Amino acid sequence: MSEKKVKEAIENKKMACPDCKKPIQKYSKYSETIDAVRDGFNIQEIESHSARVTLTCGNDECEWEERTEYWEEYINE
Ligand SMILES: [Zn+2]
Repeated sequence: MSEKKVKEAIENKKMACPDCKKPIQKYSKYSETIDAVRDGFNIQEIESHSARVTLTCGNDECEWEERTEYWEEYINE
């Protein structure tokens, strides 16, 4: 899971807006979720597999926008 995947899905119009069913036009504020893992006396930071992104429909007269960790569910392969 990576930002590249979100970007490509949008470029290839594989993400559909749940409101108007048209392809989602853009995303913003991509951020990886970092989990701290306690390992004895050390605390290690590891990169988890989740990432949040704000999806914006961007089509005419559609205001749909969502900040989600589950953006993969909008990708239609
Ligand atoms: Zn829409």
